[in-house]
Amino acid sequence: MLSILPEQITDESFAGYILRLSKRNGFADPVEWLNQTTWEAITKNSMSANHWRTLNTFIPISEKELRAHFFARHSLIFDDYRCNKPRICALCIKELGYLKESWQYIGNLYCPKHKTLLIDNCPACNQSFTWQQQLLSNQCTNDYCANPLKAEIIPNEIEELFIDEICDCLLASIFAKDPLTTVLPHSKVPHFDNLALAITQGFNLLTCDDEFTVFCNNLTDNKDWNHLPMQFRYFPLDLLITSLQSLWPIACMAKSPRKRQTEAHLEMYEQTQFIVAYGSALNVLTIPNELLRSLPEFKNKEKLPLNARINIAPLLESL
Ligand SMILES: [Zn+2]
Ligand SMILES: [Zn+2]
Repeated sequence: MLSILPEQITDESFAGYILRLSKRNGFADPVEWLNQTTWEAITKNSMSANHWRTLNTFIPISEKELRAHFFARHSLIFDDYRCNKPRICALCIKELGYLKESWQYIGNLYCPKHKTLLIDNCPACNQSFTWQQQLLSNQCTNDYCANPLKAEIIPNEIEELFIDEICDCLLASIFAKDPLTTVLPHSKVPHFDNLALAITQGFNLLTCDDEFTVFCNNLTDNKDWNHLPMQFRYFPLDLLITSLQSLWPIACMAKSPRKRQTEAHLEMYEQTQFIVAYGSALNVLTIPNELLRSLPEFKNKEKLPLNARINIAPLLESL
């Protein structure tokens, strides 16, 4: 049992509370009293009944009384809209000395009090923050840096985004990073090295002509892809657009006539892989179900879930 048990502050994050408890009781790190797996479960929002039992041997406060995390579904690419690495307002920490739960919510991009960007990595060394006590003293968690953290200005263009738009931008950032994305990744919580930067990159792809052109050129000029029919070369673009929740300029930009290939048949390379989700093959590429069912993935199966990954390369010649 820990000897000093300050209460969790109303708007304090769960992991931040454990850090503060640790510090108040003279520990340098929660794993000095709590086992590694329980501490990890706290920071990753994946507490099992066992983890709660372990935690309760040190803190006699029930799961209900502790304000842990909540779940919600907002995005195709993650289940929870709270990230599991620390995000902070450096100015608030200086004033308050604790980490707020609301900072974990990716819908909050800036601190409403100081109007500064919530940051998840150090502006000095560019390293992501980890759940360590240095944060409570407003210090970078990278030991080689250990700089005091400064407030950052929020980029104008992303300042007013709502949660659905933020999720769209994060989705687009995946395509901005890898234009040849044919299957949407899915994780429990948002994983981005620098959330604000990812949102900005996604926002630019969704709204800027120049970024859009570069993206399309990457699709059409790629040497591994340029023998494919146009419908397949543009598939990542169509997948992105059909997966968005809000209306963005990219939907209009994509309507401009696509360069059609005049050469009737380029020499067909042997394409061995083109992995997509079953649902995308049906709804984005509009491949008839009967044709899809001829693929080996369907062998001896009544049906497949829409998010099942299938390789449609064997069908390319018949399309
Ligand atoms: Zn603040
Ligand atoms: Zn640093």
